[in-house]
Amino acid sequence: MKHFPIFLAVEGRRIALAGGGDAALAKLRLLLKTEAHLSVFSTTPAPEIEAWASEDRLRLVRRAMEPGDTLCAKLFYAANEDPTEDARTAAIANADGALVNIVDNLSDSQFITPAIVDRDPVTVAIGTEGAAPVLARAIKADLEERLPATLGTLARLGKAFRRAVDILPIGRRRRGFWADYYFTVGPRTFESGGEGEINNALQDLLIKHQSNHDCEGHVAFVGAGPGDPDLLTLKARKALDTADVVIHDRLVTPEILELARREAILIDAGKEGFGPSMSQDAINALIVTHARTGAQVVRLKGGDPTIFGRLDEEIDAVTKAGITWHVVPGITAASASVAAIGQSLTKRGRNASARLLTGHDMKGFADHDWRALARPGEVAAIYMGKKSARFIQGRLIMQGADRATPITVIENASRPDQRILATTLEALPSALKEANITGPALMFYGISPRAAQVDFTQIQQQELA
Ligand code: SAH
Repeated sequence: MKHFPIFLAVEGRRIALAGGGDAALAKLRLLLKTEAHLSVFSTTPAPEIEAWASEDRLRLVRRAMEPGDTLCAKLFYAANEDPTEDARTAAIANADGALVNIVDNLSDSQFITPAIVDRDPVTVAIGTEGAAPVLARAIKADLEERLPATLGTLARLGKAFRRAVDILPIGRRRRGFWADYYFTVGPRTFESGGEGEINNALQDLLIKHQSNHDCEGHVAFVGAGPGDPDLLTLKARKALDTADVVIHDRLVTPEILELARREAILIDAGKEGFGPSMSQDAINALIVTHARTGAQVVRLKGGDPTIFGRLDEEIDAVTKAGITWHVVPGITAASASVAAIGQSLTKRGRNASARLLTGHDMKGFADHDWRALARPGEVAAIYMGKKSARFIQGRLIMQGADRATPITVIENASRPDQRILATTLEALPSALKEANITGPALMFYGISPRAAQVDFTQIQQQELA
């Protein structure tokens, strides 16, 4: 180890920096997170530095650094982006007694700044002694993903509660309490009730751990997005990481199920559009039964759980059973589909609103305000519309819609087998038949792909391959 990592006390101490360009900005963004007094020496400071100075967040000295300028400074950064000036200012700081770092010059630096994951007061510093900055960035990204954004607040509140937890015997039980707090109860409470609820949650958790009750079950209704695992939210990933049971629907791809905790029980509650399916009551019962065993249940739904997902029925069942729950939103098919064709869902001058419609509901083909939709410039994202395409076409034409209105069908949006079919209201049924669409497909009424004149399907497929 050529560099020894330490955490330096900088509260109220001076840190000086010479330079006013990009290198200086990058370091200052980091240093501004500290409680140090910052002094910047620059004849040409970037506007951001000027702004920070005017907000009193740092002291800006608009001249070249001179001997004595860095007296009492703990640290000094030479960020002039000019080797001669870096060497000159570093020599001054060195003589003044500060520890010196020269940006992008490892060999002449007395210390280096690690990659930092900041969940103050929890701070993770990552260093590779300059050997592999790419690796440091990858580790940082990984940790950023794994550590909840609320960890800092949880740690601060947890620290204040430490004394009370002395009541639990040292060892497994105390560790169990803190693990429960940091990884389950804390983040969940923060999400549902905010910081103000944390203390109560800590008290409740302590009572629970004192009487050593079994863990209570909980249901997370999680959006799995349109299929591409990269379109899962970090919260969805975390829920999958800790799930005991994952009850998923047909739209959830195997790549996403792969991400569930290895020991988790996976249950397919798939419901085919018009075909045989598990009844909603049976699904509700399944969720409740598992949660009652104390399991952390993830009810994983394609896209966003709040859109055509029968979420409310499941929430009602869970609430009735006295089980706690929360919702993790996901990227809905309409968002993924409109991205696939390079368009916006709303567009100035074209449509100031967009409807989300379902092609069929529990009674069969779904009825909508077809007359309103038939007006020029209207846009709708039609879910579950394949089977009802002819019905929708008929209603719209009957209400006077232009037969040439563009319709774009996106099958398997965001997945490797994504296909895009650009057609018109007039040609919709025959185009659908010809394309033989078998995967989930979303229809946009009133939007065509941005590059309609080229073969967009091919381009998309090439990009995805
Ligand atoms: N909750 C889901 C929608 C459930 S309804 C969401 O927010 O996306 C099921 C319908 O969604 C399918 O019939 C299809 O119209 C649409 N859909 C879901 N995933 C899709 C995908 N990857 N590509 C295209 N359409 C999709």
